[in-house]
Amino acid sequence: EDKPSGTVEFPVDKLLHGLLAAGFDEGSCLSRYQSTSYRKERPRKPSSYLISRLRSYEALHKRCGPYTESYNKTLEQLKSGHQSGTSDCNYVVWISFSGLGNRILTLASAFLYALLTNRVLLVDPGIDMTGLFCEPFPEVSWFLPADFPLKIQFASFDQKNSHCYGKMLKENNFANPDKSELPSYLYLHLVHDYDFHDKLFFCDQDQTLFQKIPWLIMKTDNYFVPSLFLIPSFEKELSNLFPNKDLVFHFLGRYLFHPTNKVWGLIARYYKSYLANADERIGIQIRVFDTGTGPFQHVLDQILACTIKENLLPEINKNEAIISPSGTPKAKAVLMTSLSSGYFEKIRDMYWEHPTVTGDLIGIYQPSHEEHQQTHKQMHNQKALAEMYLLSFTDVLVTSSWSTFGYVAQSLGGLRPWILYKPENRTAPDPPCRRAMSMEPCFHAPPFYDCKAKRGIDTGDLVPHVRHCEDMSWGLKLV
Ligand code: GDP
Repeated sequence: EDKPSGTVEFPVDKLLHGLLAAGFDEGSCLSRYQSTSYRKERPRKPSSYLISRLRSYEALHKRCGPYTESYNKTLEQLKSGHQSGTSDCNYVVWISFSGLGNRILTLASAFLYALLTNRVLLVDPGIDMTGLFCEPFPEVSWFLPADFPLKIQFASFDQKNSHCYGKMLKENNFANPDKSELPSYLYLHLVHDYDFHDKLFFCDQDQTLFQKIPWLIMKTDNYFVPSLFLIPSFEKELSNLFPNKDLVFHFLGRYLFHPTNKVWGLIARYYKSYLANADERIGIQIRVFDTGTGPFQHVLDQILACTIKENLLPEINKNEAIISPSGTPKAKAVLMTSLSSGYFEKIRDMYWEHPTVTGDLIGIYQPSHEEHQQTHKQMHNQKALAEMYLLSFTDVLVTSSWSTFGYVAQSLGGLRPWILYKPENRTAPDPPCRRAMSMEPCFHAPPFYDCKAKRGIDTGDLVPHVRHCEDMSWGLKLV
């Protein structure tokens, strides 16, 4: 068969069944094409509708992205303070805020919101985003230009800002929505401390008003996707995009987040050195929110109770020096991630000092122990991203409650993890863990409001696919 010259064809799996756009320079972002070969399962198939919407988003982004004619024009509106007539390009600007796991989840949420509202997503590079992620859209950058007029205000945007939507509502600014008086931009405060008025973002009526505002600037530390599924005007589109609701972040994450070659080097070297040759890979993500310096005995007890009870790791035999396995022993590689090295050292020593009852060989590995969160440091965040990715390459995953770091790993990997319950009063909970209902992240601060009836309701009880989370009783997740 003749193929047109000059075109490169990738096998279906390389572009994740059409999820990824063709036409990127492969060498500039190796992770985009190589990460599939590190995963055992065949990539899941995105809906053809999602694929077509992504391609049309890419076209929109190309037409409206930074320094395009339309961008320059809409920027003039922003500078003038008032919006004059409808602009053909509207934007949602994502402010870089919070820990890396949180940022990955909020960026995916903002992108989905942009898709639903035909806006262009622009990403505040913050201090480290360009060193972490490749460009996801062909040809035109997703990064907000450094000369964007409001950029210097990003850090100070809060609920008291005169453009904060919640504050403007409180002060009755939209009582008479005469179009000429609408501002050219709004600041949407969707941070966990947001109040009743900020949360009206999740109401159809408010969404209708936003349609007239070219610039929405968003600060959030929450995966707010589950509540988008409860907005009536988005319902149909979302169910077309995602016939399987358990796969929302899985697809958005694999579409958007490709580690730079620097980070991919960290990932690939570690994987090949320590994980590739094992018969089975087990990920254990430890995130302790207790105050005080660990390692804590109750956390160690909990990890072992969970992994042994659920048959993820074998028991040890303290009475025998050597155990001869009946069949061929399995080599299991355990990838642990934690800010401290204490849990890793204890478990590694345990499997060195004693044989396992099955004769299986257990290797325990932990790439880093950064001791505490250092969100402002480039290499620290690159290692954190590398570790989330490495966890997503495991066959079996154990995660900690409340941690967005773990959510990213599980969803990217397409894994339904065992979640370690959050310890109370420094004791290991019983049962120590449970299997997650779905691989989706949990929205930690959802609204509990019925926009139509104007009263409180349990938003975890409205539709079968939006439920309360396993690890946070008031959170919401897609199942
Ligand atoms: P969350 O706080 O668990 O929801 O996750 P975030 O990623 O938003 O914030 C925690 C931050 O602490 C990470 O981004 C890292 O900077 C750091 N951190 C926490 N756990 C680990 C870990 O296991 N490994 C590394 N390298 N960093 C971690």
